[in-house]
Amino acid sequence: MKNIANKLTNEEYEKNFAELHPPLTKNSAVAEANRCLYCYDSPCMKACPTHIDISTFIKKIATDNLLGSAKTIFYSNWVPLTCAKACPVEELCEGACVYVEKGEKPIEIGRLQGFVIENYFNSDLPRLFTQKDKNGKSVGIIGSGPAGLACGAELSLLGYNVKIYESNKVPGGLNTWGIAPYKLRQADSLKEVDFIKSLGVEISTGVRVGKTISIEEIYNIHDAVFIGIGLGDATKLRIPGEELTGVVNALDFIEEVKNEKWSDVNVGKRVAVIGAGNTSIDAVTEAKRLGAEQVYIIYRRGIDDMSAYDFEYEIAKSDEVIFLFETMPKRIIGEKFVEGIECVKVELGERNEKGKREINVVPNSEFILPVDMVIKAVGQNINNNFLNDVEGIKIEKGKVVVDSETYQTGNNKIFAGGDCINGGQEVVNAAYDGKMAAHGIDNFLLEKS
Ligand SMILES: Cc1cc2nc3c(=O)[nH]c(=O)nc-3n(C[C@H](O)[C@H](O)[C@H](O)COP(=O)(O)OP(=O)(O)OC[C@H]3O[C@@H](n4cnc5c(N)ncnc54)[C@H](O)[C@@H]3O)c2cc1C
Repeated sequence: MKNIANKLTNEEYEKNFAELHPPLTKNSAVAEANRCLYCYDSPCMKACPTHIDISTFIKKIATDNLLGSAKTIFYSNWVPLTCAKACPVEELCEGACVYVEKGEKPIEIGRLQGFVIENYFNSDLPRLFTQKDKNGKSVGIIGSGPAGLACGAELSLLGYNVKIYESNKVPGGLNTWGIAPYKLRQADSLKEVDFIKSLGVEISTGVRVGKTISIEEIYNIHDAVFIGIGLGDATKLRIPGEELTGVVNALDFIEEVKNEKWSDVNVGKRVAVIGAGNTSIDAVTEAKRLGAEQVYIIYRRGIDDMSAYDFEYEIAKSDEVIFLFETMPKRIIGEKFVEGIECVKVELGERNEKGKREINVVPNSEFILPVDMVIKAVGQNINNNFLNDVEGIKIEKGKVVVDSETYQTGNNKIFAGGDCINGGQEVVNAAYDGKMAAHGIDNFLLEKS
């Protein structure tokens, strides 16, 4: 990079990446639990994709039964610390709380869940569940993100031998390598990984299926296979200058930040992030928190079209991010290093039947934004090369096709879940998929035997 932002002091980095929602103390957790109205129809539970019995786990906090509360939570969700800290609760459980309708502050469900699970992880992990006797069957899982972990945990309790194959050296998927550190620290994700290992799940890291080991081998070793590979490949911008030094993929940048060696991460003085989804907001706020002086979001559509949540937009605004809406990048400028980005203004037409608005370039509206770094965050695609020749597997619109109830693919021995089947949602969806797929696998293998 031509102009690298000045490094900050350790104290400044720690302040910038401090947790957005620090844990509750015991007294404040009990007080918050006692505000819960224990609604007869639990709208919060319905709004949670994993359907955690929220009012029950909250009631158990109020009666000082914290282990019972942890058990209620794990019963529905194997990665509840990540969900407590990183779920868009405003859109899910807390958004459905009846207090919202009354114009009052909703119950802090996320922080209460975090309190219970941190308490459990800080104890000596007493056994909460009885494991079925081993049934002699094994399942191979590809990917140790929340989908793979949830599937593994559930199958292990059902009596299967489970082995997860993970290409990264450190497991946990995007919980470990993607989610912004001010929401979730790497150590928290690894606590969940360790807990799942304590249930008997084996994780073999540094093993890329399709390279280190073939899918055929895994298929032959195990009685069933679960694919939880998420999305991997970044979508290209396809504009001139994309190869210049200083142009990076959002996920590569975010992965470096997740190492938490803040001063080792070089960030430009002026940074443009292309795209306005959740990943774009994470990348732009992380760049700012690392010391970038000026940060921009360049987005070809309007504010109403952004896929980022409202609360993420607010975080970005409080980090002084400048949003350039209805603006399209045309080329990245520089000889070797990024020196600027040429953009053009667009006008948005009527929405089509898919809700997308036509984009019309405004003639002669080009302008150059001087920047030292461009972060590409315009989406990810599934990296499915190793699945291409597997009989029965179908990929449509970049997603592995599965039966919506059993999670079985067109190959009856192979199941899939998480981002690779939904095109990229949230951790809580992947956790639910993994658990449900485990039951799909169990039913399939029971029927076979
Ligand atoms: C930058 C970013 C920030 C996000 N922030 C949030 C957030 O704040 N809150 C939230 O709820 N969600 C967030 N999400 C979404 C969430 O992280 C995903 O929905 C979730 O992690 C999907 O889980 P998964 O198990 O399907 O895939 P992943 O978490 O992507 O895990 C897939 C795993 O498979 C491994 N793998 C892939 N291919 C192979 C192979 N061939 N062989 C072996 N292993 C392989 C990968 O290394 C990875 O560990 C974010 C996503 C991104 C990209």
